Amino acid sequence: MPIDATLPYDESNIFARILRGEIPSRKVYEDAFALAFHDISPQAPTHILVIPKGPYVSWDDFSERASDAEIAGFVRAVGKIARDAGLVAPGYRLLANVGADSGQEVPHLHVHLFGGRRLGPMLAR
Ligand code: 5GP
Repeated sequence: MPIDATLPYDESNIFARILRGEIPSRKVYEDAFALAFHDISPQAPTHILVIPKGPYVSWDDFSERASDAEIAGFVRAVGKIARDAGLVAPGYRLLANVGADSGQEVPHLHVHLFGGRRLGPMLAR
C-alpha cells in the first residue's frame, strides 16, 4: 500500500527496524549518515537501497528538515556506494519515490540504486 508522505515519521516502519538492528539486512555500507543494503526483491542485478540514519519520511521531508551535514553526508554516501559497486562506468539509475502517486511503500526515505544491465525507459508505461 503506498504511503501518505505528509504523515509524521513512524518509528515502527521496516527500515527504522533495520536501522535499529531488529531485522536483518544484507548490508553494503554504513557511516554516520547512511546505511545501504540490498533490496529484498531486486529489480536489477544490482538493487541497493540507501537510507539516511535520521528519521525522515521521504525526500520531501529530508530536503526540508535535515541539516546541511546530514544532506551532504547522505549524498556523498550514495555516490560512494555506486562507485564502490563499480557502477559508474557502465552506468546506473537513482530513484526515490515520494508518496502515493510514486508508489512509495516504506515511510523512511530510501534511494534505490539500480545497475548491472540496460535499464530501459525511465518510467514504466
Ligand atoms: P518503495 O516502493 O517504497 O520505493 O520501495 C520499497 C523497497 O523496499 C522495495 O523495493 C522492497 O522490495 C524493499 N523492501 C521492503 N521490505 C524490505 C525488507 O524488509 N528488507 C529489504 N532489504 N528490502 C525491503
